[in-house]
Amino acid sequence: MDGIRVSHEQYQQMLEHVSRESPMEACGLLGGSRASSEHLVEQVVTIKNAAGSLVRFRMDPTEQVQALFGFEESGWELLAIYHSHPDGPPAPSQIDLREAAYPEAAQLIWFQDRADWICRAYRYERGLAIEVELSVGSGKE
Ligand SMILES: [Zn+2]
Repeated sequence: MDGIRVSHEQYQQMLEHVSRESPMEACGLLGGSRASSEHLVEQVVTIKNAAGSLVRFRMDPTEQVQALFGFEESGWELLAIYHSHPDGPPAPSQIDLREAAYPEAAQLIWFQDRADWICRAYRYERGLAIEVELSVGSGKE
């Protein structure tokens, strides 16, 4: 995987979700196509954080399964999982690496830098987080 691309609207949808839930961690799923080396996101689904926690997330199982079925019905795959770190760190935590599901999916981490939310994408490999490129917009403008 060389990178992942989201539209401005999808980026905004995640941004609004993570800032609305803050200081709780927020999470969600991104479905789309792996047709090219740059994975193209088609849909963002916000998922309830069943852990209801400031420092960890556990996706509500019912909402998670519904989202995955929805992707499948549209002919998409799970491309990425996003979650927020309202209080840091600006990278995957040790718990994130240890508890990660879906190794084929990218992991997007939203964190706060002063007042701004920043998002970075990673893939997890052998217990390490390797940053991958996250592009916003159609790539045509
Ligand atoms: Zn985390």
